[in-house]
Amino acid sequence: MHKVPLLINGEFVESSTSSYIDVTNPANNEVIAKAPCATEQEMEQAIASAEAAFETWKNVPVTERARVMMRYQALLKEHQEDIAKILASETGKTFDDAKGDVWRGIEVVEQAMNVPSMMMGETVENVARGIDTYSYIQPLGVCAGITPFNFPAMIPLWMFPMAIACGNTFVLKPSEQDPQTPMKLAELFMEAGAPAGVLNIVHGGKDQVEPLLTDPRIKAVSFVGSVPVGQHIYRTATANMKRAQCFAGAKNHSVIMPDANKEHVLNNLVGSSVGAAGQRCMAISVAVFVGEAQKWIPELAERISKVKPGLWDDKDAGYGPVISPQAKQRVLGLIQKGKDEGAECLLDGSDFTVPGYENGNWIGPTVFSGVTPDMTIYKEEIFGPVLSCMGLDSLEDALEVVNNNPYGNGTSIFTNSGSAARKYQRNVEVGQVGINVPIPVPLPFFSFTGWKNSFYGDLHAYGKQAIRFYSETKTITSRWLEDDIPGGPNLTISID
Ligand code: NAD
Repeated sequence: MHKVPLLINGEFVESSTSSYIDVTNPANNEVIAKAPCATEQEMEQAIASAEAAFETWKNVPVTERARVMMRYQALLKEHQEDIAKILASETGKTFDDAKGDVWRGIEVVEQAMNVPSMMMGETVENVARGIDTYSYIQPLGVCAGITPFNFPAMIPLWMFPMAIACGNTFVLKPSEQDPQTPMKLAELFMEAGAPAGVLNIVHGGKDQVEPLLTDPRIKAVSFVGSVPVGQHIYRTATANMKRAQCFAGAKNHSVIMPDANKEHVLNNLVGSSVGAAGQRCMAISVAVFVGEAQKWIPELAERISKVKPGLWDDKDAGYGPVISPQAKQRVLGLIQKGKDEGAECLLDGSDFTVPGYENGNWIGPTVFSGVTPDMTIYKEEIFGPVLSCMGLDSLEDALEVVNNNPYGNGTSIFTNSGSAARKYQRNVEVGQVGINVPIPVPLPFFSFTGWKNSFYGDLHAYGKQAIRFYSETKTITSRWLEDDIPGGPNLTISID
């Protein structure tokens, strides 16, 4: 059985632990690898190696750091399919979706290649007589990242390339449910010429995360995962005087106005609701149909019923299994709750299986209508292939529902009215808004800007905000004397 290695000080090493977590194929729950729970000593080695590497890496010219990212981008593209196969084997994602997961990460590396221009400071000449002020962007030190199971390529790539391009070093604790994908990313990073110790990877769960939140050598913590864990990590990291950015759960609404293009709406809602088995933080889990648009709900359910889950290499499969038997039981429990609390189940995927893979974590596409905000299926993040439809009378009512929801990751509106779109865009309290675009994930020259319970912190992932998160600004006020020193001592606050 393959034991997933750790990456410490440039070496891929087998852990000396006796404690392992099974990594399984979600299509049949067979164990495919074992993730070690790194020992205290290994955690110490990983952090110490990152600390030592920072002393040299921070002095490597920014252009050379960018070139590592250029080679890394080329290697990731060359190996995109190999990474996607590993990713599909441990997440169950379809091959195309797995390639998309890798691709969205490659785009962040492309952004990290631009680091020289993104690290430009500011300058003003002659702020006072003979005095110039300018600022430099400098790296912070050792940074840490803790990532979830649902994007095992994209989300680690949101973090370490940007942090390392800025001159920092990094300790990554990936999800214990699919740790082989990030190890492949790390192999390619080393091949791209990253020096030993710049990226370190430890595995495990809560016990391995804790030292990353408390060790004073770590300056910034990035986390992506569920709300309770995100809150814990934000509180602990900031209580230990670290910077923290914690991306958490979501409940994304799509508002469908009656003047929208019906074909466009229905096609887009199919993929954005049940694609990736609904295990995307930007998946549409609530469709709010306004006025006459409510008549489209049965046809939407009919179209979603045509999506069939299947194996990663089945070209006809719309999506794969959910990640674990526990995740499946959670989603089935919520579907049952939806029925018990009075929502109308138009399409029920509770009983779905794939012949020959009866042990897998399959859930068929599921659609509810008549959902109201007091129902459990509305309040909880389901993270499964389940779409809740509700009907409302007006855009104002829709805005009120969306704004009362505690999450604020993503939302979309479908309409042909510029005025409705603008009203929604301006007033909705959600950080990423799509107009006739169902899942508005920003490309990496922008930032990934969730709000409310979907994000704790202030500076977001990738784009300019990531540069600020992973750096310090140093502002220099300088006087080079052109003539004799004028005057005598100055006892006031003025520098003139
Ligand atoms: P999770 O919170 O269970 O785990 C995330 C990471 O935290 C893992 O590495 C895990 O080992 C670690 N962890 C788990 N329990 C911990 C604890 N008690 N203390 C410290 N660390 C702990 O999340 P998941 O199930 O892997 O991922 C799904 C969740 O991630 C969903 O809620 C989804 O919405 C969210 N997510 C959010 C975004 C976003 O951008 N907002 C993106 C992707 C996923």
